[in-house]
Amino acid sequence: MVSYFSQNPRYCIECRKAKKACVCADLIPFNNDQLPTHFWVHPKERERSRSTSWLAHKLLEHSSYRIDGEHQPPTGNLALLFPSENALPWSQVPFDGLVVVDGTWDECRAMIRKTPFLKSLPTITFEQPYLGQYIARRSPRPGALCTAEAVGHLFLEMGNSDGTHLLNLVETLNARERFFLSRPAGLT
Ligand SMILES: [Zn+2]
Repeated sequence: MVSYFSQNPRYCIECRKAKKACVCADLIPFNNDQLPTHFWVHPKERERSRSTSWLAHKLLEHSSYRIDGEHQPPTGNLALLFPSENALPWSQVPFDGLVVVDGTWDECRAMIRKTPFLKSLPTITFEQPYLGQYIARRSPRPGALCTAEAVGHLFLEMGNSDGTHLLNLVETLNARERFFLSRPAGLT
């Protein structure tokens, strides 16, 4: 299915942000061949301009962006990054590829429950707790991480310092958000 963003001339095709808020100049791709990453995205999340998985996909040179129900699962020795009750710290699980679900908390839980591929994966989480900093999306779970932050923190914990690019991206998005919020209505 063609994305909404490629059909609407208000949006940048590359970053899927409104053209006036394009962040393409801030996207610095980096090599993550030690941990190829697959974003498994709820169909509704694809249409949300404040989703961060598309931007994270653009930053990670070895990544895929797959829509639930439309794409085949990736292959490999994969682990699912998700803070479920049975998730283990990543260092306790052998894996060489990452799957990250994207959607609201409820959408993600439902996708994992109903998708045999996702259900079959070992679930991993961080060694340390983090507080989400992304201001553009309200989460029903205070402190929850957005997708770009989650992947950034995992890369950093695993020793790939390029994970900072993902956290910097969230900073950039926050700065844009504050800028647009600070402008009088009607001038944006
Ligand atoms: Zn752009």
